[in-house]
Amino acid sequence: VLAAAEAALERRLAREPMAQILGTWAFYGRSFRVTRDTLVPRPDTETLIELALARPFERLIDLGTGTGAIAVTLLAKRDGASGVASDISAAALAVAGENAVAHGVAGRLQLIEADWWDGIDGVFDLVVSNPPYVTEAEYAALAPELTDWEPRAALTPGGDGLSAYRAILRGLGRHLGPCGRCLVEIGAGQGAAVAALFQAAGLDAVAVHPDINGKPRVVEGTMPKRHASG
Ligand code: GLN
Repeated sequence: VLAAAEAALERRLAREPMAQILGTWAFYGRSFRVTRDTLVPRPDTETLIELALARPFERLIDLGTGTGAIAVTLLAKRDGASGVASDISAAALAVAGENAVAHGVAGRLQLIEADWWDGIDGVFDLVVSNPPYVTEAEYAALAPELTDWEPRAALTPGGDGLSAYRAILRGLGRHLGPCGRCLVEIGAGQGAAVAALFQAAGLDAVAVHPDINGKPRVVEGTMPKRHASG
């Protein structure tokens, strides 16, 4: 026991996140397997879960799923629903698959290795994502727990931090059905910019929602009843 505690301490002193040392982390009341290939699920993201569960949905896609925390939680909470969890990282998808099995939703969740919408088929009534959104400049100032141990590609898309939103929005004309909702997590300073991108993409009822700390955290938009696809 002492040796194990010393080993864990050693890892923590090297600034490894507790979630990776323990190998699991709690999110929205469930335990998720976490590895170096996945972003550690954060309480901020529970805001997105609450907003998604506030309305009905049947078929969801979680783009850039990482541990699968968002997709698995939503399917576990919504019995009749099914969907897709995608990630560009095969290693992350393997972790998401384990989490889907652990929480009994593997039969309703298809895992697809994809760069945003490339290789994704079908129409969904809920599109969710916690994409990389940290700017290049902000990334340089993050704690070593993040920069040395979490996947860089899960935290920053580089540049202004908005390119993942642009990629997600580009596919909505083809993949978000009439009256379907899109919910994305954002950084605290990105509300206005991401809301403007949602509006430019033709979404209705665009709203910026705060997290439990009162910081802007989720942008929501709804596909109009009739929309030009493309
Ligand atoms: N909220 C995370 C952080 O700053 C960032 C997560 C993300 O980029 N999706 O630690």
